[in-house]
Amino acid sequence: MKVLKFGGTSVGSVESILCLKRIVESEKQQVVVVVSALSGITDKLIETAKLAVNGNERYLEEYEMIVERHKTMVDSIIPKDKAVILNKTIDGLLAELRSIYNGVYLIRDLSEKTQAAIVSYGERLSSNIVATLIEGAKWFDAREFIKTERKHGKQMLDSELTTQLVCNTFSHSPKISLVPGFISSDKISGETTNLGRGGSDYTASIIAAALNAEVLEIWTDVNGFMTADPRVIPTAYTINELSYIEAMELCNFGAKVIYPPTIYPVCVKNIPIRVKNTFNTDNPGTIIKNKIDNDRKPIKGISSINGTTLITVTGLSMVGVIGVNRRIFTVLADNGISVFMVSQASSENSTSIGVRDEDAANAVDVLNKEFAKEIETGAMYPMHAESGLATIAIVGENMKHTPGIAGKLFGTLGRSGISVIACAQGASETNISFVVESKLLRKSLNVLHDSFFLSEYKVLNLFICGIGTVGGNLIEQIRQQHSQLMENRRLKLNVVGIASSRTAIFDREGIDLSNYKEKLAKSTPSDIDRLRREVLGMNIFNSVFVDCTASNEVSSLYQTFLENNISVVTANKIAASSDYESYLKLKETALRRGVKFLFETNVGAGLPIIGTINDLCNSGDKILKIEAVLSGTLNFIFNEISAEVPFSETVRRAKEQGYSEPDPRIDLSGKDVVRKLVILTREAGYKVEQEDVEKKLFVPDEFFDGSIEDFWKNLPNLDADFEEKRKKLEAENKRWRFVAKMDHGKTSVSLESVSINHPFYGLEGSNNIVLLTTERYKEYPMQIQGYGAGAGVTAAGVFANIMSIANI
Ligand code: ADP
Ligand code: ASP
Ligand code: MG
Repeated sequence: MKVLKFGGTSVGSVESILCLKRIVESEKQQVVVVVSALSGITDKLIETAKLAVNGNERYLEEYEMIVERHKTMVDSIIPKDKAVILNKTIDGLLAELRSIYNGVYLIRDLSEKTQAAIVSYGERLSSNIVATLIEGAKWFDAREFIKTERKHGKQMLDSELTTQLVCNTFSHSPKISLVPGFISSDKISGETTNLGRGGSDYTASIIAAALNAEVLEIWTDVNGFMTADPRVIPTAYTINELSYIEAMELCNFGAKVIYPPTIYPVCVKNIPIRVKNTFNTDNPGTIIKNKIDNDRKPIKGISSINGTTLITVTGLSMVGVIGVNRRIFTVLADNGISVFMVSQASSENSTSIGVRDEDAANAVDVLNKEFAKEIETGAMYPMHAESGLATIAIVGENMKHTPGIAGKLFGTLGRSGISVIACAQGASETNISFVVESKLLRKSLNVLHDSFFLSEYKVLNLFICGIGTVGGNLIEQIRQQHSQLMENRRLKLNVVGIASSRTAIFDREGIDLSNYKEKLAKSTPSDIDRLRREVLGMNIFNSVFVDCTASNEVSSLYQTFLENNISVVTANKIAASSDYESYLKLKETALRRGVKFLFETNVGAGLPIIGTINDLCNSGDKILKIEAVLSGTLNFIFNEISAEVPFSETVRRAKEQGYSEPDPRIDLSGKDVVRKLVILTREAGYKVEQEDVEKKLFVPDEFFDGSIEDFWKNLPNLDADFEEKRKKLEAENKRWRFVAKMDHGKTSVSLESVSINHPFYGLEGSNNIVLLTTERYKEYPMQIQGYGAGAGVTAAGVFANIMSIANI
């Protein structure tokens, strides 16, 4: 025989009850079916009772909603002929319920006993409806055989008596027995009690164990036991097989899918539990049993309990004293307070205990009383309670064969800026539990799930700021590569924010990149403060802020982002070339927080210049000299200039073809090259500021005063002078190159004429070239050359930086 339990989610609607009917009626063998109350009804019964006890007349409206819900259900699913008798039962139960509520309202008293009576109506009503619906089902009252007794101030199962009564009750039962879950009665007084919230699972397990069932099936609304709560972790997936121990550990730490006490009775009898989806019967779900074959996964699942308080018992008198822990746990147990985590360092001078928030005040009180004498003499401190916390557990029996799990766990949390307040690992090594701030719970679960379970794919969450030529290209490249990266690299690039200079959109589930422009156009105006708030507020794991702007304001956000464990990838040169102290602080912050600050495209667009300098330095080389043409714009201009194309026209073309900065004055003033040289020099290990760079320029200073319109208007005034010099240059068979130099830390930029045998002479179009003279590359400098500007290659360079973060 089998025991099948259907949760509230499986008796919540007409559709779900009809699924239940099909499942039960298709069973060939004898079954006991246990049902919960209609979904949400237990909560509603409690809320209504609270209104009544507070003298709020709205309890009557709420009560009517309970009536309505059940009546509608009966009308929708029960054939007319059967409905008559059922309605009599239902009406009788609902009338009793109303009288109890009236009593509570009038006396303004809601004892534990009355509340237990009230909540029992949920299962009593639902089970009668289901029993009538299912052909040939016989209804049983669970209170006649599930017996409890009062222990430590709580109703607890009397297992022996219950087993005996269950066996008697079902010794000659029909093919289908229908039992209300959750409800029970006191073995002495016979008063209605219950097995605690979620207790229908337990009812089913007790019956399965007593009757030596072949299997216990838990029918719910998800495809089995999953690696994490699917409501918090969208990428959670079904675990095919779990051991009893693993299931117990996960349930104890909040995996709501099974009520924790459920596992024990069936585990003792070696009866497997199958967790299945009422709405998707084809899915095999999860099997929970004693021995799992061929399973090598160290971690099976992650679960969590929010609303944790950590109580620390501390004092010098605890060191080496035998019996302190005995007293702590005895006094807590005597007061019915359950402890779900304990952490004690070997120094023994403090023990931290995790309890639920609702038990915290009582726990502190009883502990303070227990240790009153020690506290008075100063040998111990008064109890310290810290609330607003959450406890997380990673669970798996194979952890005990796998070194490095704790390292990976804490490393992952650390890199995401999550600090662990307390932790515990039992010697059985099936569970590592730790406590974090509640506000970091979601993020912790996500990073851990990502790190331990993403056998499917890893996620990187991107905030992209700037949708101009570089940003726009980058978004398009990500869109195009998306499925390929998922397939080949198991990497999901999830763009969770896109900001233009005027608007911004955010979506933690990922923005559809095919129509982001329309969405941006429709969204409300945004500014830098909102951008900061949204990025920090999303507090999403594995996140990268990508700056494709040239904005000062945007670069001012990096420090805060890095501090909050958000990596920064930027095409914007402002931060890395700003004052040396700020540059250093950004780099140090990234290092300290375990995230990345990458700006390869600041120099030479997609060319691997900064990365190469880093590699050389890291391997012990020393950069002695840098000689480079670093401005794609200026190189383009000096390659374009001819008898036919005057200087001013080349500038215009550079702008139109996307080679120049949005404001070409930044290129022509040499500022752009100065910034790049400063960045390279710093990365080569020298301290330098922009002011230290010696400049020999080719556009007089006064051209940079005034507005951009003035600049364009005045620019042709330089054409004649340029043409004269150009002719001379041509005659000498030389070319202009704007050269940046660093020699043992000394820096300069200048317009130079290079002759035909110089490596810079043949530099085409907007290309860049860098010669690195190092201790190892002394006689023949290392040479890096190629496109040094252009939206596509710059975006690709940004993309490469993003990929390097994905691979950490
Ligand atoms: P029922 O009404 O069937 O008893 P519950 O709401 O008590 O259903 O439990 C099922 C819910 O448990 C799922 O809808 C899911 O959101 C939640 N849940 C939490 N952790 C897990 C997990 N690890 N695996 C599956 N479901 C989980
Ligand atoms: N109806 C009860 C509850 O909501 C028991 C259960 O659903 O298992 O807690
Ligand atoms: Mg449940």
